[in-house]
Amino acid sequence: MNQGKVLQPMDKQDAPLLSAQGIKVHFPVDQGFWSRLRGEKRVVHAVDGVDFSLRRGRTLGLVGESGCGKTTLGKTIVRLYQPTAGVLHFDGKDVTNLSASEFLPVRRQLQMVFQDPYSSLNRRKTVGQILARPLQIHGIGTRGERANLIEEALNAVGIDRSHVNRFPHEFSGGQRQRIGIARALVLDPEMLVLDEPVSALDVSIQAQILNLLMDLQERKGFAYLFIAHDLSVVKRISDDVAVMYLGRIVEQGPAREVLGDPQHPYTQALLSAVPGQQRRRERIILRGTVPSPIHPPPGCRFHTRCPFTKDLCRRVEPQLITLAGEHKVACHLLDSSVAAEMAG
Ligand code: SF4
Repeated sequence: MNQGKVLQPMDKQDAPLLSAQGIKVHFPVDQGFWSRLRGEKRVVHAVDGVDFSLRRGRTLGLVGESGCGKTTLGKTIVRLYQPTAGVLHFDGKDVTNLSASEFLPVRRQLQMVFQDPYSSLNRRKTVGQILARPLQIHGIGTRGERANLIEEALNAVGIDRSHVNRFPHEFSGGQRQRIGIARALVLDPEMLVLDEPVSALDVSIQAQILNLLMDLQERKGFAYLFIAHDLSVVKRISDDVAVMYLGRIVEQGPAREVLGDPQHPYTQALLSAVPGQQRRRERIILRGTVPSPIHPPPGCRFHTRCPFTKDLCRRVEPQLITLAGEHKVACHLLDSSVAAEMAG
């Protein structure tokens, strides 16, 4: 939630740093002998037509239950996955179909921090070697200059430079996540994709890492795509929020509106389960489990679990409509053009 930082020309400051239009990520499923014989093609619709944008110095919280596609979307942004369809722009440039070598300079500006700091750090390498690796890949600096950049990155995350020759197992979980963040910072990026960066940590350590991320954003003007399932964490750090369900965004807008006055039944249900919110809202218990992304339900994907489902919901997929300002929701209940049919 950056308030100031980095002096940019006004038009550059206001333009989206990242924009995604109609992003789909589908994975073919291994079909087995009989399915192949019958000519069946099964596909996981992990992300299925997502639009969003993110400005410099801002945080977009991406929330939803496990399996809703948020991590796949994050990995697609940094091109660990190639989108099946749609267009990605970074800093005004179409980066959707760049080759690996063409994408490398963009990747330098676009770093990712992973959920599990222990498995994402190479246990056989020292902290210094782990942080040196991205600098080597991008051909940055002499040996001495790299040592200075590593020291700066460690300093920024509160790890003493004397620890540079230690191995990951010599640190606590919170310190390891700081090292994971330092590895992303060492390239001086413009944007970080943070995939559940605090969910593996104790609550007290979570607060320290969130404070660190907010402090870094304030000082360096990073844009964050902050992926999480814990809405209380997202609320703390996000300027804007997008709620995903089964590969689609069902509600998005300023965090104070989406989390303060949620309009989509799914967002309402998620928020009603957050401790502390239960006094303000009646708990909404969702029926069943998230359907398979191999066969997403027709019409509204949420209709199998929604307490307000009507016949129209089973037949027609609701589109994101703007309620006010930048607050958008995909639900027939809130679309005045179909409200009469819903009431009937
Ligand atoms: Fe529920 Fe229908 Fe709205 Fe979907 S469109 S969230 S099923 S009321």
